[in-house]
Amino acid sequence: MKASCDPVQTLHEEPAEAEVVSHRLMLRAGFVRKLAGGVYSYLPMAVRALRKVESIIREEMNSAGGQEVLLPALQPSDLWEKTGRWQAYGPELFRLHDRHERAFALGPTHEEVITDLVSQIIRSYRQLPFLAYQIQTKFRDERRPRFGILRGREFIMKDAYSFSASEENARQIYARMQEAYGRIFLRLGLDHRMVEADSGLIGGNLSHEFMVMADSGEDTVVTCEKCFWASNIEKAPDARVCPVCGSALTSRTAIEVGHVFYLGHKYSAPMETTFLDSAGKEVPFFMGCYGIGVSRILAATIEQSHDDKGIIWPVAMAPYRTAVLPLGPGMSERREVLSLLESLESLWPGEAYFDDREIRPGMKFQDADLRGFPFQVILGDRHVDKGNGEVKIRRTGERLVLPLRDIPALLS
Ligand code: ATP
Ligand code: MG
Ligand code: MG
Ligand code: MG
Repeated sequence: MKASCDPVQTLHEEPAEAEVVSHRLMLRAGFVRKLAGGVYSYLPMAVRALRKVESIIREEMNSAGGQEVLLPALQPSDLWEKTGRWQAYGPELFRLHDRHERAFALGPTHEEVITDLVSQIIRSYRQLPFLAYQIQTKFRDERRPRFGILRGREFIMKDAYSFSASEENARQIYARMQEAYGRIFLRLGLDHRMVEADSGLIGGNLSHEFMVMADSGEDTVVTCEKCFWASNIEKAPDARVCPVCGSALTSRTAIEVGHVFYLGHKYSAPMETTFLDSAGKEVPFFMGCYGIGVSRILAATIEQSHDDKGIIWPVAMAPYRTAVLPLGPGMSERREVLSLLESLESLWPGEAYFDDREIRPGMKFQDADLRGFPFQVILGDRHVDKGNGEVKIRRTGERLVLPLRDIPALLS
């Protein structure tokens, strides 16, 4: 990508409306723009980062046995009446009417829809287990939408739903999903912690959250540093003493990036969705559901990974892997520079952001630091004349001068 063809500019002033660092940096770096409270447009760099997060999630969901589906955002109210959530969900549910005055919700979550779908396709225990997942927009009329895309009213979630013939199988899938989540957050480069959790409006009695520790977090996590027990304070409101080993607890604020629930018959029983078990008896499905805040992950990553100059993306989700910064007049057309770009292109197609603008070097450095590309290749006369280039590693600030032909290998 050539910066001279990119209309999105960085902002040098501090955006007044941003209260947390991720929101401020996403606005300044040109990742998102606000349309209404809790409603954002994603600019091209944010979409590139999102797609990388999604593809890691897809790989792990597929290898855990999941199959991807797309589910309606428009959900008829009668489905929600069946589970009692048309009332219970309260003002967070976006409600609307069609031209025939039929009531609908804009889906904040999809338990009702998927349970109804599965009742239409699965009749026998032989078709089980079934693990379906979706990566889609969800709508919640949050009481306090804030902090940019950390708490939107429209946001992207990966949700998965499991259907099993026995409680034992449902619990095995639950455990498999916990492991898959650990791998996803590890691959994304997020420092996270799994904690015991309350199941809130989704329901069920076994539940864990995946938390990213951050000052801006709206959740509080209590942890025992001795036996590693950890819980959301919502689940253990009175805990002063570790309930497992009795040691003192530490409490910290955190951002919830994932949440898994064992549901049992919570939805299948009221919706009367059953299958024929091996004895030929009609029994309700044993269910689980598993969410990840895909768009929230971008902001949570920035909360955890930034400095006073800007964002520091982990390689796995950086919008571009490398910024290539030719300095001074004519440098962006030099043969050595073009051939370096070609070799980068053949190793990582589309992953170089080539800042060919005719602007001061200082501005190129500032923008590359702000946008947080993991590597910068700096090409000034002094080095290029000798066949060299300089590489800066964004996270550590380390700089190395080396022959141009050796640069691509260094960036792997
Ligand atoms: P929160 O406690 O932050 O309101 P939640 O517990 O209501 O989240 P879940 O129903 O567990 O959310 O949804 C699964 C995941 O979706 C959450 O773990 C979170 O990462 C993400 N998520 C939930 N609400 C929002 C939101 N308003 N904006 C962005 N992501 C969200
Ligand atoms: Mg919520
Ligand atoms: Mg929560
Ligand atoms: Mg939750």
